[in-house]
Amino acid sequence: GVVATISMAKRFNLAAPLLLTLTFLFSSCSMISSSSQASPAGFLQCLTKANISVFEQGEDLFNTQLDKYIRNPKFLANTTGRPLYVVMPANAHHVQIAVRCGSLNGVPLRVRSGGHDYEGLSYRSVGIEGFAMLDMSELRTVVVDNQTSTAWVESGATLGELYYAISKASDLLGFPAGVCLTVGVGGHFSGGGFGTLMRKHGLAVGNVIDAELVDANGTLLNKTTMGDDVFWAIRGGGGGSFGVVLKWQVRLVPVPATVSVFKVSVSNSQGAAVQAVTKWQKVAPALPEELYIRALVQNDMAVFRAVFLGTCDALLPLVMSRSDGIPELNLRRSDCKEMTWIESVAYVNNATVEDLTKRTTSEFDSSNGFKATTDYVRRPIRREVWAKIFNKQLGQPNAQIVLVPYGGRMSNVKEDATPFPHRAGVMYSMQLYNYWPVDSGDESGNAGAVQSKWVRDMYAFMSPYVSSNSKSRGAYFNCRDLDLGPDWGPKYFNSLFGKHLGRGMGVCTRMFMKGLVMGSRFLLPFPCLVYDGN
Ligand SMILES: Cc1cc2nc3c(=O)[nH]c(=O)nc-3n(C[C@H](O)[C@H](O)[C@H](O)COP(=O)(O)OP(=O)(O)OC[C@H]3O[C@@H](n4cnc5c(N)ncnc54)[C@H](O)[C@@H]3O)c2cc1C
Repeated sequence: GVVATISMAKRFNLAAPLLLTLTFLFSSCSMISSSSQASPAGFLQCLTKANISVFEQGEDLFNTQLDKYIRNPKFLANTTGRPLYVVMPANAHHVQIAVRCGSLNGVPLRVRSGGHDYEGLSYRSVGIEGFAMLDMSELRTVVVDNQTSTAWVESGATLGELYYAISKASDLLGFPAGVCLTVGVGGHFSGGGFGTLMRKHGLAVGNVIDAELVDANGTLLNKTTMGDDVFWAIRGGGGGSFGVVLKWQVRLVPVPATVSVFKVSVSNSQGAAVQAVTKWQKVAPALPEELYIRALVQNDMAVFRAVFLGTCDALLPLVMSRSDGIPELNLRRSDCKEMTWIESVAYVNNATVEDLTKRTTSEFDSSNGFKATTDYVRRPIRREVWAKIFNKQLGQPNAQIVLVPYGGRMSNVKEDATPFPHRAGVMYSMQLYNYWPVDSGDESGNAGAVQSKWVRDMYAFMSPYVSSNSKSRGAYFNCRDLDLGPDWGPKYFNSLFGKHLGRGMGVCTRMFMKGLVMGSRFLLPFPCLVYDGN
């Protein structure tokens, strides 16, 4: 009992008083002793009795199913903690039974929807052995009701499947969530979810109006029965912490019949790209909220991609305005393309509308591992600093800096409306990203070391430019980065972490006390109890 308590406590990352309370609770908690007598065989039997599909380590199909949705291929290597079982629930009841089987037999669960977790924490563990993975990919129905402009979407659906289903029901409805089509609804909504409609319609979670959750007791709850605080917490408080979200009811948003897009590349000869990015950062967050212009810095170039809810005739003067636009882009009428909203969703992915429901990723995405981290920028970065940033990218052909403009609806939502706290005052988010081929033939075990180091060095370099006196350095939960170490709480959740006792950590604590969230039943990567990086 004592040994188990110490090893669990080492993984906690809580303020000291809370840590003491929880250590006490754990040391007096019978579930800990049940997990120390884990019975994987009992777990398997329990599932089989209920006719739930399960693949066991060592079986041929185990690796096929596990690897199918590993979206950061650096984790395809058999090196870090893999699950003992891949469990494939086919309905809500199966999820409830699987949770109870795990609890009864001391086998903790991880939940995977789309498998895009940057650190792979939906299907692997850094420090905990003997867990099972619930694979939600068979639960992916989307039901759209265009009378009420709402939809129910199951967690195992991809964003592409959600967008496609909406477009089949109506040309004039859309949904504000992420860009990448194979991202899973389950993890994405759990951490916030932003994309090209964010400046007009906010985050995915801002448009979630109901949900069904299986808690750690295996009880099926809806918005009313889970209560306000839990409903608040699941909408951005982090995947894998509060139970298994089965499905979400979302409010769809109106989109115009004509949407315009452009992609313009500015090379850095004579500092043109530095100049364009310096201007972009002041202008893009203040543009009309119908206009989203994302900037990507790579290979001494800046690439600007825009989606505008309106026509090219309306878009051009906004971008080319000398006073409030970015004339540095030299945008021409021929650069601008008009299309429907769903075509714009495909366009920003270099895909076709029919590709939206494909669950396989491109050859590129399935063969390159990556390391990434995020920051939030609250005041413009000086031109000389941008010149240095561009220089630091030279020699790193795969390194990307992705800049996403905030402002508009993102700033008009109160900081504690959802657990996603990056609101008024944020100008843009900055993602530092680098990738490498996983089958480069590097036998040293150091594949990706140089690229990962670049991300870490850049993160250190950016420190003076992304911090502010009033706020701690921010990070986006959905771009999870174990390098943030013990400081992850305030970075992901700002002052909402720990401070709002009725919410956030408070929800975790109360659920924990009621036995609804427990380290012995669920592995809790973030934010509740366990920091799986120590
Ligand atoms: C290529 C790529 C592009 C991306 N683009 C965007 C973007 O445009 N905008 C954006 O906001 N984000 C983006 N992301 C980040 C993405 O939103 C997160 O990685 C998200 O968590 C992925 O969800 P998932 O279901 O695919 O991941 P998973 O790995 O399945 O899950 C992520 C986390 O959520 C938990 N979880 C999964 N399903 C459930 C469930 N049903 N109930 C409870 N917990 C669950 C998991 O246990 C894990 O902790 C991108 C990521 C990648 C890799």
